[in-house]
Amino acid sequence: MNLSKWIVTSAWPYINTVPHLGNMIGSILSADVFARYLRLRGYDVIFVSGSDEHGTVIEVEARRKDLDPRQLTDEAHEYVSNLFRRWLISFNNYTRTENEVHKEYVSKLLMDIYKRGYVDVKEQLMPYCINDRIYLPDRFISGTCPYCGYEDARGDQCDNCGRVLSPEELVSPKCVFCSSRPIFKLTKHWFFRLDELEGELTHWLVNHKYLEDNVKNYSLSWIKIGLKPRAITRDNKWGIKAPFPGAEDKTIYVWFEALLGYISATIEYFMKSGEVNKWREYWFNPEVGTAYFIGKDNIPFHAIILPAMLIASGESYNLPTIISATEYLMFEGQKFSKSRRVGIWIDEALEIIPEPDYWRFVLIRMRPEGKDTNFTWSEFVRIINDELNDDIGNYIHRVLTLIYRYFDGVVPKPRKFSSIDEEFLSKIKSSIYRYCELMNLAKIKQASEVILELARSSNQYLNAKQPWAKLKTDIEDASTTLYLGFVSIYVLALMLYPIIPNSIEKLFKIMNVNKDNVRIADKLDLKDINVDVINKPEPLFRKLDRNFIANLNEIITNARQRAQLKRPNSLK
Ligand SMILES: [Zn+2]
Ligand SMILES: [Zn+2]
Repeated sequence: MNLSKWIVTSAWPYINTVPHLGNMIGSILSADVFARYLRLRGYDVIFVSGSDEHGTVIEVEARRKDLDPRQLTDEAHEYVSNLFRRWLISFNNYTRTENEVHKEYVSKLLMDIYKRGYVDVKEQLMPYCINDRIYLPDRFISGTCPYCGYEDARGDQCDNCGRVLSPEELVSPKCVFCSSRPIFKLTKHWFFRLDELEGELTHWLVNHKYLEDNVKNYSLSWIKIGLKPRAITRDNKWGIKAPFPGAEDKTIYVWFEALLGYISATIEYFMKSGEVNKWREYWFNPEVGTAYFIGKDNIPFHAIILPAMLIASGESYNLPTIISATEYLMFEGQKFSKSRRVGIWIDEALEIIPEPDYWRFVLIRMRPEGKDTNFTWSEFVRIINDELNDDIGNYIHRVLTLIYRYFDGVVPKPRKFSSIDEEFLSKIKSSIYRYCELMNLAKIKQASEVILELARSSNQYLNAKQPWAKLKTDIEDASTTLYLGFVSIYVLALMLYPIIPNSIEKLFKIMNVNKDNVRIADKLDLKDINVDVINKPEPLFRKLDRNFIANLNEIITNARQRAQLKRPNSLK
């Protein structure tokens, strides 16, 4: 993949709740690390996302609190946007579905699809809860999955087997708000003719060079079963007005509009700088890559429905280049659950440990790439103490301290290379090459393994060469060792920069490296490392001590209370 211009996106968080650690690694943090990596390569990157704020949950929640839904989402959007800044998420535009640019774009695109004959009107039986006086679309009717027998399947999808469903397929349906059995009432809806796009979608999927097998095979198997028309409209009040003639009392189904937010957020980003048409240079340029970071339950929406809408619009949009779908992060062996208080939410995390880099590093190390992973506190402590602090931090500090103390901070020039030096240099070069190869495909967790391997080899190299013992007897060898030590630190810093930006910027200051000029490339050029003198080193990380582990329950309880106090009413 030789693309130097990218749109990077993360799934739009639904703003009825604060994201938890699983949401963070599943989409937002992974996308951020990827976007930062691409920028470090010197590429042109626009990174967008936003708050998904329409739909039934917020409408019902607002009614219960006797508030206008917009009041709820204003508060929640502001609170969550600020949390993302504190987590160092480098969005170019983090917007919301209530913004006017988005509403206008959604209406226009859906009308294009309508005019090209991909929208049908049909009367449909919809579940309606007499008790709550509301139609129960998608997530708000539960029941048994007709395909796999899972008992908590929802009206739009079974979270167990991943199949997309429609409400009338559910066995023993229930209203999720009050558990009563809904009645089915006839109502008119506008349907997107996904079935008409099967051929084009299959062609796109089969010929796609970069889509991962889990995404490709899943989507193709779904098409094989046969795509059905999907309702684009809902009977909700809170949402974007449906633009179709005769649909004045309907709103757009949140999924259809949130997917289009990737494009409207790009439009809005360029509008802010006065370059009204510039978004077209990204979305209609085949030389631009688009990358989507999502949880695996969102695969059908990004690999089928989004490309289908873009194809149906009749314009030649870029279809997804990378869809990085993570498996699930579990919490101490359980699913994250707000109602059962299982998990850590991202505001609580920063109350437990305020440095975002620690969380970012731990989550990347636990990224559920290819299989579910499990967050445990013992693993959390091990990753921070053994990996971040010992393997990486101590090594960096040792080398810099030796240079500072014995060479007055002047980075030694290499003198003679023995075979062990040659071997180490080629290890450094192969590490950065492998890292880039993996990062290009958004295999971020695997790329982090490369970092750890290099840190461990570097420690072994330093211990074997013992430069401190040779300062008087073999200064040439000691110089070469510390020179290569410095090179390895430089490479470690480049590879870590997208993951722990705060710490690496601190390190760059010590190394006298201008953070704005550093670039990563798969081939290491030693000439790029032109540092003469370093500043006084300071440890970059610290260990979690015994007290942390001994008092963990109390620390968590207090952190939860502090976070709770800071949350706006809509998120309590
Ligand atoms: Zn199922
Ligand atoms: Zn109900």
